[in-house]
Amino acid sequence: MECISFSTEVLVLGAGAAGLVAAIEAAQSGAKVLVVSKMGPQDTNCTISAWGGFTYAPESRVHELFRQVVETSGYLANQRLVEVFAHRAPKVAQYLADFGVALDVLDEADKKNQLGIVKLRGKGRTTGLALTTRLRARAEELGAKFLDRVMVSSLVTEDGRIAGVVGVDLADGKLLSISTKAMVLATGGGACLYGRTDNPAGATADGIAMAYEAGAELVDLECVSFQFPANRLDGLFAVKNAPDEGLLRFGGAHYYLGGLRIDERARTNIDGMYAAGETTGGVFGAARLGGAALADAVVFGAMAGKETAIIAMERQTNGLSRAHVERERRRMEKMLASKGTPAPEATERLRAAMWRYAGTMKTRQTLEQAGRELDALEPLRGDVRAANPAQLRDALEFLNLLTVARLIVAASLLREESRGCFWRLDFPKPDNANWARNIHMWQSGGKAQVAVRQSVMSRLTPPTQPRIGAGCFPYLPPTEP
Ligand SMILES: Cc1cc2nc3c(=O)[nH]c(=O)nc-3n(C[C@H](O)[C@H](O)[C@H](O)COP(=O)(O)OP(=O)(O)OC[C@H]3O[C@@H](n4cnc5c(N)ncnc54)[C@H](O)[C@@H]3O)c2cc1C
Repeated sequence: MECISFSTEVLVLGAGAAGLVAAIEAAQSGAKVLVVSKMGPQDTNCTISAWGGFTYAPESRVHELFRQVVETSGYLANQRLVEVFAHRAPKVAQYLADFGVALDVLDEADKKNQLGIVKLRGKGRTTGLALTTRLRARAEELGAKFLDRVMVSSLVTEDGRIAGVVGVDLADGKLLSISTKAMVLATGGGACLYGRTDNPAGATADGIAMAYEAGAELVDLECVSFQFPANRLDGLFAVKNAPDEGLLRFGGAHYYLGGLRIDERARTNIDGMYAAGETTGGVFGAARLGGAALADAVVFGAMAGKETAIIAMERQTNGLSRAHVERERRRMEKMLASKGTPAPEATERLRAAMWRYAGTMKTRQTLEQAGRELDALEPLRGDVRAANPAQLRDALEFLNLLTVARLIVAASLLREESRGCFWRLDFPKPDNANWARNIHMWQSGGKAQVAVRQSVMSRLTPPTQPRIGAGCFPYLPPTEP
């Protein structure tokens, strides 16, 4: 495989809402920006397929928005992140309108001085294209460059600092080595891990898996939001022998509430690496309000873009270590030469197992079965087949999904309660005494590490009784202004 090297100041992985806003802000601040996406500009990512609602709050209701996000999260949200979100979300609609994005205010929220939803104009599975097209055009005007249909396969760190990435051009199979001074990870969530989902193909948690392998800390990975008909939820919690065949036909995975741990400046624990959007965790805990995901992607995408531009001014790029690039070359050449299981077949087995045993109807028993199913898939790590360069994407996605599946199953076994969108049928009630806590996961010296820590309750405490529900939650009844 031929290898081409690039160098940039700010590297943005992902061209959904979070990545595009990060690119705009970094370029606006004067940085040389390169955006890499495994999809083309018209291919449907989550931002493009979104219904298009954004959380909206009048400036006077910031504290109310803060309370609603924290309570909806079941008090798992990091309240310092929610502070940032609640203060900036009210400005998102105007920010986007300034780029020419057409938005409608629903419910006339502003007039009633209440929380509401601002929606992208349009309907259907490509509503968000109006948003991504405008944002990309603005990023390009500011000088940002785009590499489309390039799949990043691993992140490279040097002495604990992000140094760049290795990827593959899916059109011609050339290996790319990209060095950078700073990076924004905005690769979205991974709801395609489950056999049933409303997410478009490609939501495969690549960033979460690659970041974990590079030493990043993850939080709340067990918190995946599932759609499920409200009138069947009681029936679900009454299931005695999970999984119930009839109920497996309902619902689907919608949103990753967990992901990379970030701080108020969108920094991860890897020096120089920032993250934003659905690939992160901590802002929403166990459940989120409808419209909050897009607003979050814009708020933290903008923050990450600005911050990376600042540190890019102070740093040098070093080329990537040859050893790392060679390792990636060997890995991909092996997949291309393999006579083993085709990647799409391996992925289907994984998705079926995760939906059946680790989806809506989780118990200790089903999760342990999920673990055994994952063990059976583990040998495919060294033997999954990509018939051509385009199928390298399928193969790499399978490996990323398998990594994240293991983490989700492990974290789901630990959390012995139900809260927000996290449901354990053998522990159907919330347990504030023991579980108003976050599960953190990372690797150290090649070994998996787990810590259960008190959630950051910098303002609102003690936790109220958490809500339990499906999908995105509606606003709570408002308190008086
Ligand atoms: C059907 C549906 C409706 C929704 N409706 C709403 C709504 O109305 N309101 C709301 O707030 N939220 C909604 N959501 C959720 C919201 O759309 C997403 O959470 C949000 O768009 C995520 O944005 P993002 O930028 O983080 O990631 P995405 O938009 O998913 O973008 C991820 C990007 O990363 C790139 N990428 C991933 N892996 C790699 C890799 N290995 N190498 C290179 N590039 C990579 C992809 O190509 C893509 O460009 C909806 C989601 C769905 C599925």
